Amino acid sequence: MKDIEFISRAMEKIRPEMMKVRDAIFDYAELPYKETKSAELLCETLENHGFLVKRGLAEIPTCFTGEYRYGEGGMTMGLLGEFDALDGLSQEAGCSVPKPVKDRAPGHGCGHCLLGTGALAAAILVKEYLEANRIPGKVIYYGCPAEEGAGSKQFMARAGLFDECDFIYTWHPASKNEVDAMHSNAIMGANFYFKGRTAHAGATPHLGRSALDAAELMSVGCNYLREHMIPEARLHYAYIDAGGTAPNVVQDRAVVRYEVRAPYVSQAKELYDRVVRVAQGAAMMTETEVTPELAMAFTEYIPNLALARVADECMREVGAPSWEEEDYSLAKSFLESFPAESKEAIKQKFMEEYPEDWEEKWNKPLDGEVRPFSPDKIYLSAGSTDVGDVGYAVPCLNLNVACACLGNIGHTWQMTAQAGSVLGEKGTVAAGKMLALCCLRTMGEPRIVEEAKQEVLRRNGGGYTCPLPDSVKPPVDTY
Ligand SMILES: [Zn+2]
Repeated sequence: MKDIEFISRAMEKIRPEMMKVRDAIFDYAELPYKETKSAELLCETLENHGFLVKRGLAEIPTCFTGEYRYGEGGMTMGLLGEFDALDGLSQEAGCSVPKPVKDRAPGHGCGHCLLGTGALAAAILVKEYLEANRIPGKVIYYGCPAEEGAGSKQFMARAGLFDECDFIYTWHPASKNEVDAMHSNAIMGANFYFKGRTAHAGATPHLGRSALDAAELMSVGCNYLREHMIPEARLHYAYIDAGGTAPNVVQDRAVVRYEVRAPYVSQAKELYDRVVRVAQGAAMMTETEVTPELAMAFTEYIPNLALARVADECMREVGAPSWEEEDYSLAKSFLESFPAESKEAIKQKFMEEYPEDWEEKWNKPLDGEVRPFSPDKIYLSAGSTDVGDVGYAVPCLNLNVACACLGNIGHTWQMTAQAGSVLGEKGTVAAGKMLALCCLRTMGEPRIVEEAKQEVLRRNGGGYTCPLPDSVKPPVDTY
């Protein structure tokens, strides 16, 4: 039997079970690093399918792997699964008017209930294929917590968890079907702790040294720094602790959190060092002390071009999810549910992207095709993801698969609702098949795998280095 036929048949068999997993994770809707029930369900399902599960990896309780090996030798293939939710986005599945299951509770507004399940399905399909066809090889499901928090994959990469993989595939619920062409920014986040000396601000101001002044001068310095950094870079900051609420007491402590983004991790590091020097300058001016504490960092994600060639074909062979009339009207109701200003912006984008038939797309807003990938489609996105660190360690590729209406906006209650609906189900089934086929086809192309590895070596200069020093532990209880 041809690999794709095998995959399609096997998928139909596990589909009801997979959808139960999706529904359960949708209902659990657990926050970053707190995904205990979701992780346990995925672990148990893997065990039931004959995978060997290791729990509590990379110093994160909800981080795990499930591995299956057939025979000796062969390729080692990885699949990444995420399963954390976002705060405040609780919403009833499939419902296109705001209706939280529980007020202000977390919800799957990024569709990670689908992401974790689709990758799980793919791992099971690959396992069944190796077994049925007696092909030696190994497949590993990576349970990756807290993508919406401070991440986990950089800690997993630092612990060497990906090292044995020849290649890794993952996916993200999206509104289009395509090999993800995004080049995401690298990011580094740190808390700056300023320490001064308190005093009565009225009676003895000359005895005080204000930590709050230092924090403010740091902001002034960073705002001047903006003019002298590369245009793609970003600096964000927030006051974590302003040192108290009494203006008549000199603030002896202040904490500011800074996030630095740039297209490459080397640029982010350089910019971060400059921000540290600005902080030191601010401390010097105010005769206070500053301690910078790096808390999080992701490397940039860049699609692996060698893997992209294989995946592009596999995606088209599997095909887009097949949508029916009810699906189109459900998708339309979500598109119409966005606020007027957002809808206007989405409409403009539709007109630019589909000048011929934008009205038809607006009325039937579901992606029914797989869009071809080419390296010149790669675009820089301001956002950041911890998948970047996986791709900096081993060949890794992300696929986007339609689980929501065209023009959809992520991190919204609308996304939560669609993730729990038939749209999410169909997208996840397609994604599971695509990922499995990608693994099987790549496994059969050792030359492409070699090329993919060379690509990684060219990027990381010979080996993965984590942007976080070993002293920085996963912020499991603090983030
Ligand atoms: Zn996401």
